[in-house]
Amino acid sequence: MEEILVFGHKNPDTDSICSSLVKTYIETKRTGENYKAVRLGNVSKETKYALDYAGVEEPELISKVDEGQKVILVDHNEFPQSADGIENAKIQEVVDHHRIASFQTKDPLYYTAKPYGCTATILFEEFKNLKLEIEKTQAILMLSAIVSDTLLLKSPTCTEKDVNAFNELEKIAGIDAREYGLEMLKAGTDLSTFSAEELINIDAKKVEENGKTFVIAQVNTVDINDVFVRKEEISFEIEKVIAESKLDLFVFVITDIINSNSKIIALGNDKEVTEKAFNNKLDSDDSMVLEGVVSRKKQILPQILEKI
Ligand code: MG
Ligand code: MG
Ligand code: MG
Repeated sequence: MEEILVFGHKNPDTDSICSSLVKTYIETKRTGENYKAVRLGNVSKETKYALDYAGVEEPELISKVDEGQKVILVDHNEFPQSADGIENAKIQEVVDHHRIASFQTKDPLYYTAKPYGCTATILFEEFKNLKLEIEKTQAILMLSAIVSDTLLLKSPTCTEKDVNAFNELEKIAGIDAREYGLEMLKAGTDLSTFSAEELINIDAKKVEENGKTFVIAQVNTVDINDVFVRKEEISFEIEKVIAESKLDLFVFVITDIINSNSKIIALGNDKEVTEKAFNNKLDSDDSMVLEGVVSRKKQILPQILEKI
């Protein structure tokens, strides 16, 4: 039977990994066809914590898709964030909660876009619509994705739909989801073993807009200074990526998940764009504190897009 690949974005986060597994489960149950969850990058410590807790193996790693390969995209749609070769794949379906950009298909497709806090919340609704029973394992996977994307329901991206899904999934999973969620998030904040090069790649998203190419990378921490003390080596690696990939701007966001603040390091010819975007000045070390900012999707990317 022809294999249909299901995957999230490059530098996959917990939503991308868990939603690709859950979508695979739904489609396999629904159609009996041969769906397979795969991933486009390393699994983070946070995601590993969730998969171990759920007792699920991480999806297989792929680096590209072949021409004509049938795929389902979850948690992304922009081609620069997708698998290499995506332009010539056959996209059957997209389930996503991001803006739609750099996306085009030759054929008709299913496309579900909802401005929820998490792709897994859209999948939770698919279970409901299909009257498909949610097993404990699937509940833990969706719960983990929601915790991750909404920072335990605290991010401004979090909607009532996410909260409702969280509450119902908590019951199905039979766990204290807040306690579990905090442990899962904390597991992802142990950054000590990462080289500076790895740090700036853990959760980096590339965006192309107005003839400009930029990257916004984000790491979560319980203490911004734990990361910022490594500013010299981090900046050195960022400058290397800017030169190699001909970027106009690289924004590295260090987010304090306990106090819901961020500090950014902005480098590249267009670094002043961040001053206009956030109506603030970069310090002489190219950093800026963003009070109350935790969401790249809602509080960083649109502001930069407007000024770039
Ligand atoms: Mg994501
Ligand atoms: Mg997501
Ligand atoms: Mg994310």
